[in-house]
Amino acid sequence: MPIESFNPYTGRLLRRFKPHTAAQVERIVAQAHKAARTWRRTTFAQRATVLHRAADLLRERQNELARLMALEMGKPLRDGRGEVQKCALTCDFYADRAEQMLADEIIETQARRSFIAHEPLGVVLAVMPWNFPFWQAIRFAAPALMAGNVGLLKHASNVPQCALALEKIFHDAGLPRAAFRTLLLESKDVAALIADDRVQAVTLTGSEGAGSQVGAAAGRNIKKTVLELGGSDAFIVLADADLELAAKTAAQARMINAGQSCIAAKRFIVEKPVAREFVAQMKTHLLALRGGDPLDENTQYGPLARPDLADDLTKQVEASVQLGAKVELYGGQSAPGSARFAPMILTNLRPGMPAYDEELFGPVASVLIARDEQHAIELANDSRFGLGGAVWTSDERRGERVARQVEAGAVFVNALVASSPEMPFGGIKKSGYGRELSHLGIREFVNQKSIWIG
Ligand code: NDP
Repeated sequence: MPIESFNPYTGRLLRRFKPHTAAQVERIVAQAHKAARTWRRTTFAQRATVLHRAADLLRERQNELARLMALEMGKPLRDGRGEVQKCALTCDFYADRAEQMLADEIIETQARRSFIAHEPLGVVLAVMPWNFPFWQAIRFAAPALMAGNVGLLKHASNVPQCALALEKIFHDAGLPRAAFRTLLLESKDVAALIADDRVQAVTLTGSEGAGSQVGAAAGRNIKKTVLELGGSDAFIVLADADLELAAKTAAQARMINAGQSCIAAKRFIVEKPVAREFVAQMKTHLLALRGGDPLDENTQYGPLARPDLADDLTKQVEASVQLGAKVELYGGQSAPGSARFAPMILTNLRPGMPAYDEELFGPVASVLIARDEQHAIELANDSRFGLGGAVWTSDERRGERVARQVEAGAVFVNALVASSPEMPFGGIKKSGYGRELSHLGIREFVNQKSIWIG
């Protein structure tokens, strides 16, 4: 994919970037490798000063950064500001807690003293997607830098300006320049970078295909990986749920980032007695949302991030309809080749249809009817993915019981599925492996070293 800023709402090319040459990449990697040796010797307090300053700069520049996201990938301004604020919060979170999270862990053994020390690995490569251009990258960078690692960011080709703006924030915050660099690289050049001995580990957020290729390249080179891939999260509504709240949250959960979120609710599994009413209410909420220009403060959802993503989603919907899916809410792509896509609801779904089997990365809700609680769990688990999920019921213990049976990395009872710095984030099955955020996230890219003193 060419590295270019392309406004998905207007269809206009804003800027094209030349990829870094092989010589530039070599220089950046060599400098990062060198920086890793000095950055690992800094104290937690020194690292925290940089991260707190980065948090301040994120807050100061939130309008400018939100505008960049609106222009490059269509996120409405207010959502963009929210994303940047969450990034700032996460920088502060790790700045304040990394030392405690990575403290030596004493283990009682026959030794005089034995413990686990947590040491940085060195250069960590992050391959990141366009849907949350700042959040996805900060989720990697804040814990990695606080752990004493240095970062190389290969961002998605459609958000180069966001990638460069993030690099500038870390540099302006006082981080040594080589300790965080954005590489303007095409995805075909990533495998060579993974093979480089100076790169110690790789984290990727993106599609199953990209995850599998990056994981394979890392496997060939015995490199640690974290993969955060797609999801087709179930949103289970049991008959005893607060239906109004569930339907309102369902619309919100499907429309996060115009539906382009790995943890957006995608399959709505509703107990039969309340299904008709749930669909009616969800439809009302979806119709009330204002789609439009992401630069307009009143816009509630923007276009998809690229026209080809809208084309692909249309194909998934059309194939499902041909196989018998019913359209409950007509929306869809405004014209072939356009990134604009209005919300849709599909029912009458069964295995074999894209809307049942695949991830729909856009504003299309798949509704499935469950006979009872057990059937709802079976439907939820009838997916290759296992990222997040939600259960709605007025009985908290029942909610917990169902939550424990849903095959996913996170299940929320009576709440919108969202990531937060305190809680681990990641999936099982084809949604990937490893965890980001929380104390588990910061421990992914450290050497958990056993020290035994006899
Ligand atoms: P990709 O998975 O292709 O892109 C994500 C990142 O991976 C980008 O930086 C991309 O670079 C890079 N990449 C892609 N292929 C390779 C490869 N073989 N080796 C190394 N890096 C690679 O996502 P798309 O943009 O194509 O979106 C397609 C679908 O992916 C979506 O419809 C959705 O299902 C899923 N997705 C999931 C996300 C999530 O949050 N889990 C986020 C984004 C997408 P480049 O841009 O240069 O190709």
